[in-house]
Amino acid sequence: MTQKKVAIVGIPFDEASSFLRGPALAPAKIREAFGSDSANCFTESGTDLKDHPVIVDVGDLTIVHEAAPISIENSIDKILSQYPKVLTLGGDHSITYPVVKAVAKKYSSLSILHLDAHADLYDSFEGNKYSHACPFARIMEEGLVSRLVQAGIRTLTTHQREQASRFGVEIIEMKNWKNSIEFTFEGPVYLSLDMDAIDPAFAPGVSHHEPGGFTSREVITIIQKLKGNLIGADLVEFNPTRDPSGITAMLAAKIFKELLDRLLK
Ligand code: MN
Ligand code: MN
Repeated sequence: MTQKKVAIVGIPFDEASSFLRGPALAPAKIREAFGSDSANCFTESGTDLKDHPVIVDVGDLTIVHEAAPISIENSIDKILSQYPKVLTLGGDHSITYPVVKAVAKKYSSLSILHLDAHADLYDSFEGNKYSHACPFARIMEEGLVSRLVQAGIRTLTTHQREQASRFGVEIIEMKNWKNSIEFTFEGPVYLSLDMDAIDPAFAPGVSHHEPGGFTSREVITIIQKLKGNLIGADLVEFNPTRDPSGITAMLAAKIFKELLDRLLK
């Protein structure tokens, strides 16, 4: 039997969202767009993902809602005991803290590339330390990673600038973005992709419309040209309730394919 290499798992959780609910609906919508007859299952590099022998979709997590972070962490621990790499679909950005907590137990000297309009470095947001505005504060406080590199950022507050400097976060603000920038990492890399990193003109199906973001092509190119050993990724903050035409679902499915292509390497 072929050894499975990459586990796909849906995380239908949006209870730590500060503004709108909806990302809990994302896993089903991304799978539906991926399976749509309107497109094929090939990545741009030529890999056919249809019924791929080393990829397994383990379905959606069952989350214990009153203890979501620990419940998500325990589930990802179990998945990583069976499969080397994990790609999570959906949820709000709060899920990244427990997912990375599990990933960091398996991979030491982990780096994160985080693409987002927001730095998500609040110490606490509206009284919630596990809000979707806080995951990277928790990750850095606990020393889970050796490097955190953020790009796409265009909403920094004074507090978040202080947090970034306190934690040594490397931020490429969107105002300084150039297409010649490439990302290089030593050791294992985890990619956390908030769909609102992309301009709302391309990805309207998000809770927080923040103009001035990446084009679809820029994000795909970042994934394709990333130098390093990609061992896991999440695709978060897609909100199907704001995506009546399904355009954001198709973009999420496209990014999902290009992420899988990289995770297979
Ligand atoms: Mn985010
Ligand atoms: Mn965001």
